[in-house]
Amino acid sequence: MKKGLLIILSGPSGVGKGTIRKEIMSKYPNLDLHYSISMTTREPRSGEVDGQDYFFVSFEDFKNNINNDKFLEYSMFVGNYYGTPKEYVYSLLDSGKNVLLEIEVNGAMQVMKQFVGKNIVSIFLTATIDEIRKRITSRRTEDSKIIEERLNKAKSEFSSKKYYDFVVFNNDKDKTVETIADIIKRKIESLNN
Ligand code: 5GP
Repeated sequence: MKKGLLIILSGPSGVGKGTIRKEIMSKYPNLDLHYSISMTTREPRSGEVDGQDYFFVSFEDFKNNINNDKFLEYSMFVGNYYGTPKEYVYSLLDSGKNVLLEIEVNGAMQVMKQFVGKNIVSIFLTATIDEIRKRITSRRTEDSKIIEERLNKAKSEFSSKKYYDFVVFNNDKDKTVETIADIIKRKIESLNN
């Protein structure tokens, strides 16, 4: 059976990955995308739901998962662990489903290495640092120290964009959604031919 496509949507925190991902999934159901819910040690933000936004776990639980080889990739990001549970991704890909990962740069690099020559497309979503600052500040979920750490991290992440198949500048939400949906659609078509 044909394997599904693995889609990496990556880029700095605050660039709008979550919003774009949700829009693509609701506007383009025919792409049949399955979102991989990550595990994290970060505290839930107000409104976030365990098992829907993330699997929120303790550091101890996360480390047990690392030791038991449960992750496709994982990374430390501004003081917390984030990781992609392996089993879900492989079982979907093996049954021909398309899986979307929304992850930061270190994790994306780990996945790309493991998927050389396999069905994968990687997209780096970017914006100006001023726009990112505006977004992180306006969501009012982090204190000023964490905001600065996330912005410093964003600056270091920009240089990794060269490793991705596509770089998309997010300055118009609707256009960005359309562009990324088109990239995914074309990739799926190319695999079917
Ligand atoms: P946030 O705390 O803002 O939800 O996420 C922080 C960063 O971690 C974001 O760039 C987000 O995309 C990334 N992230 C979320 N889940 C994962 C994951 O499973 N693995 C990796 N490597 N990064 C993740």
